[in-house]
Amino acid sequence: MTVPGNARTMQISRRTFSLATVLALAGGSLGYLPPVPAVAAEIADGGFEVSHYGVNLRYQLAPEVLSGTTTILGRATRTLPTFDLHFLLTVSSVSVNNEPAAFTSKDGILKVTPKRSIEEGDDLVVVVRYRDNPSDRTGDGSGGWGWKRTPTGVVSVGSPEWWFPTAFDPADRATQSVVIVVPKGLQALSNGELPWYGGPEPAPGGDKWSWTNNVPQAVGVTLLAIGRYELTTSTGPDGRPFTRAYGADLGDLRTPARLSVERTPEIVAELSKWFGPYPFKAYGGLVDSTFASVVATATRPTYTAGVFAGGANSSVVAHEMTHQWYGLQVHTVGPDTQWLSEGFATYAEFLWSEIEGLGTAAEVAQFSFDRHPADDPVWQSPPSHPDPESHSAFPIYTRGALTLQALRTKVGDDKFFTILRDWVTRQKTDEAATTAQFVALAEEISGQDLDALFQAWIHAAERPATGPNGAFTAQRSAKPKSYEQITANSHLFATTGHHGQGPK
Ligand SMILES: [Zn+2]
Repeated sequence: MTVPGNARTMQISRRTFSLATVLALAGGSLGYLPPVPAVAAEIADGGFEVSHYGVNLRYQLAPEVLSGTTTILGRATRTLPTFDLHFLLTVSSVSVNNEPAAFTSKDGILKVTPKRSIEEGDDLVVVVRYRDNPSDRTGDGSGGWGWKRTPTGVVSVGSPEWWFPTAFDPADRATQSVVIVVPKGLQALSNGELPWYGGPEPAPGGDKWSWTNNVPQAVGVTLLAIGRYELTTSTGPDGRPFTRAYGADLGDLRTPARLSVERTPEIVAELSKWFGPYPFKAYGGLVDSTFASVVATATRPTYTAGVFAGGANSSVVAHEMTHQWYGLQVHTVGPDTQWLSEGFATYAEFLWSEIEGLGTAAEVAQFSFDRHPADDPVWQSPPSHPDPESHSAFPIYTRGALTLQALRTKVGDDKFFTILRDWVTRQKTDEAATTAQFVALAEEISGQDLDALFQAWIHAAERPATGPNGAFTAQRSAKPKSYEQITANSHLFATTGHHGQGPK
């Protein structure tokens, strides 16, 4: 995250940090995160916890106008004479608990002063009405992908400040419902699922799309896409709704995109065997030709069409869907723990390679290790303090995954997968995960002292003396068939600000 050093940024730096944390929640999804101060809890306290965002929007293209009413349900965690929301658009009215409230908007902060002070523990119902042209607004540079116009509409990933007001607390996960009326013939997509009767419904001025995610998610992993998409919903083998949308302009990339994303239910079924129950009630994907990266938006990753330029790439689907566990459930803050999401998602690509018959996880790990001899500078940047200047995928993605293979070698399959599953259930809290917590859990479940292993793989600025498969002496000459695809995916993630942050 680049924080320009101007007065405006200084003024809102408190929020900027907390937004950075929100983005880190997007988890695992962040490409290269510059250092984020480990300050989260205190500065992120917006004074209330949101339980639900109810977003009602109407969008028109020419001229571009977004009008909306967002209802926030929450609870005060301290006395609140005023409170702040993060929002860029022009607001016409705010009410708090059904009474008009005073407000000011400046630099992306909507400061609300309720008629009467809110006491700790009070329920809050905040209604914000607004109307604006989002393309006229610029963010504070603190993250997300902003408001990206496309030839037929807009894609907004991890950037709710362009379309609905949110609280700052990055630990806040809320359910959300998003209703959008768009001109007839366009599709509108967000997180979660359509109502039982599907969609869209005819509405005055266009078509109404209704999306609900009843499983709490962070605001940093929201998705809004409006445009011409080939949008399909069906029911996956596990009964979950499976919604995918392909840009109408994908051309030759449509087939490789479909060859990959259409397999999402099968991939989720495999991932669930390793990681435990899939955490959301819906899944799917969005493939867009103008969006520039790949981001693990909740329930439905957003893929740049370019990730399918080399042909079918189910590996990237395995990676993104893994973030629904490691990244969105277990979340991390800052680059030093990013391996806990990216290393896991990359390891899932190793595991998926095995299912596809393209090389076992052990083979992919061994080849990746052997490919980088001890004098290769990639080893000087360990996962626990990666070089912030580097855009190399190796330290966080590849070495993170090799760490997991080394752990698996050490503790055996049963305990290894128990550790991965328990890590999700135990960390499903509003607290950011740390490497020390993971090591403690691995030691508890395995009954082994693992300090030396994690010291060598996560902390030391040198190549571990022993490879990921232990005392494995025979260097493999054959390159696993999945190696180039997995490496290309990691490179794309690390260089495009995968999941919302970093270079854009
Ligand atoms: Zn990732």
